[in-house]
Amino acid sequence: HLQVTGVRKNFGSTEVLKGVDLAVAQGRTTAIVGPSGSGKTTLLRLIAGFSAPDSGRIALAGEEVAGQSTWVPAHKRSVGYVAQDGALFPHLSVGANIAFGLPLRGKAASLRVGELLEMVSMDASYAKRRPHQLSGGQQQRVALARALARQPELMLLDEPFSALDAGLRVATRRAVAQTLEQAGVTTILVTHDQAEALSFADQVAVMRDGKLAQIGSPFVVYTRPSDRATAEFLGDAV
Ligand code: ATP
Repeated sequence: HLQVTGVRKNFGSTEVLKGVDLAVAQGRTTAIVGPSGSGKTTLLRLIAGFSAPDSGRIALAGEEVAGQSTWVPAHKRSVGYVAQDGALFPHLSVGANIAFGLPLRGKAASLRVGELLEMVSMDASYAKRRPHQLSGGQQQRVALARALARQPELMLLDEPFSALDAGLRVATRRAVAQTLEQAGVTTILVTHDQAEALSFADQVAVMRDGKLAQIGSPFVVYTRPSDRATAEFLGDAV
């Protein structure tokens, strides 16, 4: 469903992605783990269409969206993206943030907003609040609800649960995973949390220094890391 082939990206003279190959099957979830600065967010932003690779290609559902002579802009890709900091529209209410751009009005919109808030363990009464009246964790959950509302074919989640406390993190992760699975959404999750990768993902990809050093089932990656650096990174991450 998602196919990334030979993707390279430089910022100035810094090579950030040095030839990344990744395939994620329809409806499956891949967790990307790896040290800070290894290129995880850069890869997600290329897949989302926020910037273009210098070379290589990206195909979604069999259609090339970035390649030598192809470029499909972000808003024309059926891709949801939730960044580490949520980034809501500050001047809109929570409800308007979630319903933004959806073809829903009035009662239908408020019912849908209520359902989505419930999915992320929030009461429907939060719909009237402004983002600055919410805690960081609540804002993050609204950002997840807003992305889920769009029912994208591919969901990119960049450390979406890291601002949540432990109890809430598990509950939110479970609800989000269930929603994505029921809708058959292909998902990529960047995470530092091994429990999260193990419970959420069908495959784990280890990013190191701009390359995917290992891709395999969570069990295999965590029990049989392919090399010493991967073993050390995964060991430290526990
Ligand atoms: P983290 O886990 O800390 O979020 P990451 O693996 O997601 O890290 P990236 O954010 O992809 O890493 O960054 C990879 C490298 O690319 C870093 O060295 C970063 O400084 C650099 N970089 C990212 N975006 C830009 C940019 N727009 N301009 C210049 N350098 C950039």
